[in-house]
Amino acid sequence: MKTSCPFLETPRKINTNSFNIHILRGYIENIIIIEYNHALLLLDSGCINDISRIEFYIRQTLQRPMQDIKLIAVSHMHPDHAGGAAFLRKKYQIPIAAHPDTDRWYAAPGGALQQMLDCYMATSVARHNHRRLQRICYKRKLRPDYLINDGDTLPFFPDWKALHVPGHTLHDLVFHHPADKVLYIADLICEVKGKHQLPLPILFKDKMSHSFDKLGKINAKTIIRAHGEVIYPDSCTDLFDFMKSLLEKPDSKFVKRINLMSIYTPEIKRHNPFDI
Ligand SMILES: [Zn+2]
Repeated sequence: MKTSCPFLETPRKINTNSFNIHILRGYIENIIIIEYNHALLLLDSGCINDISRIEFYIRQTLQRPMQDIKLIAVSHMHPDHAGGAAFLRKKYQIPIAAHPDTDRWYAAPGGALQQMLDCYMATSVARHNHRRLQRICYKRKLRPDYLINDGDTLPFFPDWKALHVPGHTLHDLVFHHPADKVLYIADLICEVKGKHQLPLPILFKDKMSHSFDKLGKINAKTIIRAHGEVIYPDSCTDLFDFMKSLLEKPDSKFVKRINLMSIYTPEIKRHNPFDI
């Protein structure tokens, strides 16, 4: 499906029994729009500068009003996932659902510093991807309208379930549609040069390992990710066992550097992090 939008590259569309999944290329991540006849569900909001991409696609391609978005389900606070959410809520009164600990991540002066570093790292990714450099600052507090715990269904979309999968942050959620066996996994399996990679950073390796165990028990057949192509696994157990095996490898210098730039959130003090 081509669009005439100059900055919107060819989106992907996947049809399931219940809805259509639209995957747009955002600033540095995929933007996921779940389309029902009666409503739209946004899984993460992209960066704040992705709002115009979302608006264009929904209005011009889907021919629907922005108010058809009934919920933004946010996986975690990083700039490419939560960046546009508060602004979309302000502009269109779209409610936000996220984990109760979400606003702890960038709290206090340490959190403010962490958010600046995360925006800097996101901008570095944009530069690496030959994207035009743009400001991607956004509010540090999300103030979710709906607090979602492990196993909760999403407001307005009871066929979707959230799973709490800490490791990358402490408040990571993924969103699972059991009936259609679809899983939106956000950052937890990234793609680098065609290979599955761990998210960066992983601040809590033990928790990440448990989260991969949990995801391995899900019988997902379509795994949508924020960074990479869709995965159609033969076996979720094998896939997440492989991800666990990557945790055993020693960190490269690059990974160590990213980890060292990711320790300023006050959440680090609340839990035992990796050994730095
Ligand atoms: Zn992230």
